[in-house]
Amino acid sequence: LKRDARFAEVTSDDVKFFQELLGSESAVIESISKDASDDIEPFNTDWMRKYRGHCKLVLKPETTEQVSKILKYCNDKSLAVVPQGGNTGLVGGSVPVFDEIVVNLQRMNKIRSFDQVSGILVAEAGVILEVADNFLAENNHIFPLDLGAKGSCQIGGNVAANAGGLRLLRYGSLHGNVLGIEAVLPDGTIVDDLCKLRKNNTGYDLKQLFIGGEGTIGIITGISILCPQRSSAINVAYFGLESFEAAQAAFKEAKGQLSEILSAFELMDGRTQKILSYVKDKKLPLEGEHPFYCLVETSGSNAEHDNEKLQNFLEHVMGEGIVTDGVVAQDQTQINELWSCRETVPESLGHWGGVYKYDLSIPIAELYQLVEDTRERLTKAGLVGETDEYPVVDVVGYGHMGDSNLHLNVPTRRYDKEVEKHLEPFVYEWVQKRNGSISAEHGLGIAKKAFIGYSRSDTMIRLMKQIKDLYDPKGIMNPYKYI
Ligand code: FAD
Repeated sequence: LKRDARFAEVTSDDVKFFQELLGSESAVIESISKDASDDIEPFNTDWMRKYRGHCKLVLKPETTEQVSKILKYCNDKSLAVVPQGGNTGLVGGSVPVFDEIVVNLQRMNKIRSFDQVSGILVAEAGVILEVADNFLAENNHIFPLDLGAKGSCQIGGNVAANAGGLRLLRYGSLHGNVLGIEAVLPDGTIVDDLCKLRKNNTGYDLKQLFIGGEGTIGIITGISILCPQRSSAINVAYFGLESFEAAQAAFKEAKGQLSEILSAFELMDGRTQKILSYVKDKKLPLEGEHPFYCLVETSGSNAEHDNEKLQNFLEHVMGEGIVTDGVVAQDQTQINELWSCRETVPESLGHWGGVYKYDLSIPIAELYQLVEDTRERLTKAGLVGETDEYPVVDVVGYGHMGDSNLHLNVPTRRYDKEVEKHLEPFVYEWVQKRNGSISAEHGLGIAKKAFIGYSRSDTMIRLMKQIKDLYDPKGIMNPYKYI
């Protein structure tokens, strides 16, 4: 990949312009005139430490007007830009590839309004997901998205990535929950569509392009989102199972018996739990080892009714031998403890230095087969082993089983071309054959850009390119990525 010569390089005059525009010292970090490379490093490196850019300028606007002036200036001067939220994305989309300017939204962190009756929240893009959810908890509501990176990711970043996460099974995708968007186009135009209506059939629904647009057509500065009432009764159970077939049977029973109170159904294979236990030095909730584990959450409004349903469900799946062993959380501390067995999986897998991550939608019957096929392939190639001479530690799978979304992960001691050659395009071809998606919820970024054709037709890709050219004719928004 080569730097696109159409883009200008940042000069000290540019820095001066931005300093005057943004005022505060801390709103502009630059390493052009002074050596601020340590300060700038975190904005140049992604969460997995897999992608590293060389930006010399980070801007932290505080208002939509400032974002507008930044983008207009960059567009006029052909300066390339990377929008950045909490920088927790997993496809290298949030860091520069070369010297693109990072526009980080962290100072746009105000909640603008919340309506107790409708449950509609309007907030700036830089609000941290957990902060938004805590605010909603005080108001007896819940953010319709939850994920392991909630303490760092921003709601604007979530929407830009169209994150799915742990609550999608119950509350659906951001394409349905986000009601309005405020965004800035590359030429500085402010798109003020902070609609607070559930129904609005007046023309093309343009906000949808920003949801999952990964910062390629503009910067999201605010969102309005429909938030459900917080459930007063929450139960979490964690099971051990002997096979993936048993996990499917448990899911089917959960849907049938827990029906409207089922709020999450997550899968972890035994290997992820073993790694988590080792890395975190943590005792797992169940004695012994099981090839598969599931975490089931219910949320409802009537504790007695929910408990009875969950109890009946458990008796049934244990009685039928679908579930081998299980535990139900007795209080909030135990709920958090059980959830941590799922939520801390991604960071545990990074323990050895690197991890190849594939986030895939696969028809449920074959969901886990890919993990086994990949493990067999890498093992046969002599790449998997317990000692340092082997690049690969293990091949594991976990994910949002309720959404048929598998996270195939290959924790490695180092990023290695030989491993990559055995993984790609193998994984993508495998998924294409089953009409799955090569990116279920993490997006394309730079990691998946070259592989979009495995999940989208030429016609679809051409239409996407037309949209990109229409919104961003000079191509300054998050270049080298997406399509
Ligand atoms: P960033 O990483 O900063 O950016 C993501 C993309 O959006 C980039 O392309 C960036 O350019 C763009 N962007 C950011 N902000 C804006 C903006 N305001 N306007 C326009 N473009 C913008 N994802 C899931 O879907 N489900 C999960 O369960 C899940 N679990 C995770 C667990 C962990 C531990 C981690 C580290 C990540 C997980 N993710 C998950 C990945 C997920 O995409 C991100 O965590 C999150 O949605 C990204 O938010 P962010 O603010 O960090 O965005």
